[in-house]
Amino acid sequence: MPGSAALRVHFRTFGCKANQYDTERMRQEVEARGGVAVASWNEADVCVVNTCTVTNQADADARRWARRVSRENPTARVVVAGCSAALRADEYAAMPEVAVVVPGHDPAAVAGAVTPRLVSLELRAPLDRIDSEPIGGELLRTRAGFSRGWLKIQDGCDRKCSFCATRLARGPSRSRSPADILAEARLLASVHAELVVTGIHIGHYGRDLESPTSLARLVGRLLDRLPDVRIRLGSVEATEVDEDLVDLIVTSGGRLAPHLHMPMQSGADPVLRRMRRWHTREQYRTSALAIAGRVGAMGLGADVITGFPGEAPEDHDRTRSLVEELPFTYLHVFPYSPREGTPAADLPTAVPRGVAAERARDLRLLAEAKGRAYRASRVGGGARVVVEGSGGTALTEDYLRVAVPRPPDRPARLFDGTLGGDGDHLYIAWPQDPSSISS
Ligand code: SF4
Repeated sequence: MPGSAALRVHFRTFGCKANQYDTERMRQEVEARGGVAVASWNEADVCVVNTCTVTNQADADARRWARRVSRENPTARVVVAGCSAALRADEYAAMPEVAVVVPGHDPAAVAGAVTPRLVSLELRAPLDRIDSEPIGGELLRTRAGFSRGWLKIQDGCDRKCSFCATRLARGPSRSRSPADILAEARLLASVHAELVVTGIHIGHYGRDLESPTSLARLVGRLLDRLPDVRIRLGSVEATEVDEDLVDLIVTSGGRLAPHLHMPMQSGADPVLRRMRRWHTREQYRTSALAIAGRVGAMGLGADVITGFPGEAPEDHDRTRSLVEELPFTYLHVFPYSPREGTPAADLPTAVPRGVAAERARDLRLLAEAKGRAYRASRVGGGARVVVEGSGGTALTEDYLRVAVPRPPDRPARLFDGTLGGDGDHLYIAWPQDPSSISS
């Protein structure tokens, strides 16, 4: 913007890694047009919130944030984008604090919306445009300020889980081309020690491409072309982790992190059916046991929903026994919250909130105990870590966040050390001779 001070833009993200990636693309696009990203909303001319709609709470958080920003910095214009904006554009547009609503995640639309002369509610796009929201475009060069980068390989989902609003907000599965992904991965690998392969449903990667391919083939190419970076898979369904993918984890020597996050949602078949999941309890169980049997010590996580409509006490017990049996190292547990527009919102036999919360607490306690036992089993073992933020913590290949008592004094890549501590608190100890730290 010649002749005027650069527009200062603050970005806030709610939700998953895919959303965080999308924010980085928005930031990059805004900077390419002369804007400057600022860390505090108080010094911003425009505040962009990239919203999430996974729970009612996520919608409420975004609304609360917009109100707070406008109260504390009344001269800033607030732009609302993302998943919640895609589903609830009218609600956000009716908020006096909101200047523009961009339904979805298109970086160019957001960049247009932050540019003052273009600010107009006419920029609101109809929801059906989300289905064709671009998946290609400019390559992302960095996840500013982080040692771990996000590499988004697809958007959207073709499954129809009855509780899920993300699918409604993001449309069907669209894969990026392998060439774009490899080019972007090369850029990101020059600044990040680890890349997390992310998307909304990465297990379906490549099915929609003109020359169909698979997640395993893509990851194999990433490992071949980028020898210096660690690759980690984002959330992937248990039934979509094929032999080829497990082979890569087993044979890559840790370059494909031994860590899988496989959404389970429930361990009871009647609930899985009402959730319109495509797998049974046994299919999930068999797959998880087979993977863990081949990989050995690994980070294994899952999402679980408690109190889904009609979930009987014996259903919860089934979920609990499956969690007990499988070698989970952590769980993300969410009490069910109905999402408007989803089939599950119309299901009868709601479970009282208090019961759903109690079941969530039960599973969280169980998962914490399992996590503690796993962490204790790692004490004295080697780990390759990526140091995070200002150096206070690091992340191991098997997804343990550990303390770093003596941060390395040179630019971080991947560092080898030994885990000390106990099941509650792990730390990484470097070898005596700092020059033997691998980088
Ligand atoms: S698999 Fe199910 S829960 Fe996951 S994004 Fe698709 S519809 Fe939503």
